[in-house]
Amino acid sequence: MVLANPTGTWTAADGAALYGLERWGDPYFCVSERGHVMVQPRGDRGGSLDLVELVQELQGRDLSLPLLIRFDDILEDRLERLHGAFERAIAQYGYGGRYQGVFPVKCNQQRHVVEQLVESGRRWHFGLEAGSKAELLIALSLLEDPEALLICNGYKDQRYIETAILARRLGRQPVVVIEQADEVGRIIAASGELGAAPLLGIRAKLSARSTGRWGSSVGERAKFGLSVPDLLASVEALRAADLLGELRLLHFHIGSQINDIAVLKDALQEAGQIYAELTRLGAPMGYLDVGGGLGIDYDGSRTASAASTNYSLQNYANDVVATVKECCEPHGIAVPTLVSESGRALASHFSVLVFDVLGAGTLPGAVPPAQEGEALILRNLRDTHAAIEAPDGGADALQEAWNDALKFKQDALAAFRLGYLSLPERGLAEQLTWACCQAIAARLGALPAGSAIPQELQALPAALASTYYANLSVFRSAPDTWAIDQLFPVMPIQRLQERPDGLGSFADLTCDSDGKIARFIDSGQVKPLLELHNLRPGEPYLIGLFLGGAYQEVMGNLHNLFGSTNAVHLRLKASGGYQIDHVVRGDTNAEVLEAMEHDPQLLLERLRMASEAAIGRGQLGISDARRLMAHLEASLRQTTYLQPWA
Ligand SMILES: *Cc1c(COP(=O)(O)O)cnc(C)c1O
Repeated sequence: MVLANPTGTWTAADGAALYGLERWGDPYFCVSERGHVMVQPRGDRGGSLDLVELVQELQGRDLSLPLLIRFDDILEDRLERLHGAFERAIAQYGYGGRYQGVFPVKCNQQRHVVEQLVESGRRWHFGLEAGSKAELLIALSLLEDPEALLICNGYKDQRYIETAILARRLGRQPVVVIEQADEVGRIIAASGELGAAPLLGIRAKLSARSTGRWGSSVGERAKFGLSVPDLLASVEALRAADLLGELRLLHFHIGSQINDIAVLKDALQEAGQIYAELTRLGAPMGYLDVGGGLGIDYDGSRTASAASTNYSLQNYANDVVATVKECCEPHGIAVPTLVSESGRALASHFSVLVFDVLGAGTLPGAVPPAQEGEALILRNLRDTHAAIEAPDGGADALQEAWNDALKFKQDALAAFRLGYLSLPERGLAEQLTWACCQAIAARLGALPAGSAIPQELQALPAALASTYYANLSVFRSAPDTWAIDQLFPVMPIQRLQERPDGLGSFADLTCDSDGKIARFIDSGQVKPLLELHNLRPGEPYLIGLFLGGAYQEVMGNLHNLFGSTNAVHLRLKASGGYQIDHVVRGDTNAEVLEAMEHDPQLLLERLRMASEAAIGRGQLGISDARRLMAHLEASLRQTTYLQPWA
């Protein structure tokens, strides 16, 4: 496995550029001269941590890999940036209202994450958005600020609605968003029953169509939201029930990860007009909730491609503020408080998944020693290899050698099928063919820069790519890479000052051929292989998966019974260094078994009896039986991932 042009100097900056670190990682991730990824949890406000040293220190605390490191400072910085962007936009456009966001809990329901957001967001009265009864329970109990909004989305039954109405008496501010036409009747009934009304919102089904993966979240056939006729009918039903006075908020959501800002502008204009219309119909209104969708530039290309966005956070805020102002002012309508439900934009950056590589399947490059009286095909392959290594040939000679090697390999296969070549001889032929390929790739790499390389040979480094066996389950830790082909930046977190040796992709621990990471960011495009270093015996090769803080942890599953990974929450200390606020141990084998209704103690007991029986039959020695039981017991207490033998 050889990359082109292995000459010239290579520095850590080259490594950072290769993986696009400065494009998607700024301001939180960069590289040190030593070639380690550095984390700046407070963005450009100072303070940094060496990610490799951090992982080593955490491992020293018995936190084995794979490890999820959550930088709570980053979460706070993202909150500040979001609010800062809206504050600047409001000032720039002279907007007569304010911004007041909420966090959609579904994006990451982990207790410490939600608690941290609530605490950090208090100074802006930052609220929460719930989409189910369980999420409502989280939001009601954590959100004590009476000014913070609690947006209630999702399907709602009578109990959900009554809970929200009664919670208003606790001093909370739940806004029940009418998402389905038939919810209006339930809301009216619940209000009558309780003699109290909820704050109401209404979700509009916009006709503006989003592009990208979540494009079908809007439009006339969208799952949620009210069509214009339903919207008007709901307003009249509320009026008749004397509840129109509680209608305060218009909501829309045009899908996650909006790639193209033009789509947002269309939606904003449409929603702005509906808002103005609702005011005219007599609803007091006051809030316009633009939903989620604020995207992340996963590949740093700043394009409208699936893994990117063609706008910045500031562009987004500017467009929301300016468009809403344009819709309201001509009608003489007071501008609303702007609400967004930005989940991905807040939660993606703060968690970094670090995993180790257990080994690599690399094609052999060594030439096996010649033996007396070898078959002609084998001698031909040896001659071809010698010709490649000869100093004179240029690209043409390499192309010829490539053609020869392929031909001899096919000959060897045919001879084997017909019984003229033994299995060991066929093995030698394959080894020699790979040695020829490796030698050609090495020679190609050494050609002067700009040399014309025949097309067939250009694909050679990819054909020689290695599979790196990763100590993780993509189904658990990065499910969207599998489910929806999402791209996350993945890269080694050390040795960046060393030129990578070749190309590879990752295979995970599961026995599922889909359990792999084989699509990588490539500034607006996708590449199937990543530049990686050869493994060194006894030295860990640590890989980081970045920007996965939104949705990945919560959507991960127990495929093959790989459970949650170890996780830590940490913060920079004012005095330098860091403090660990929480350690969340990954699932043990006992826990994942219990999740499937097995009783780990019962399983052990059956095995204990089986080993007693084997001892009785003389098939198992007592010391081996004890060792077997000790391994089983230890496994139950440990995480589900592979651990260095200890
Ligand atoms: C999922 C969802 C969000 C969050 O979207 P992001 O793109 O992660 O910001 C917000 N609002 C609603 C209604 C959602 O369903």
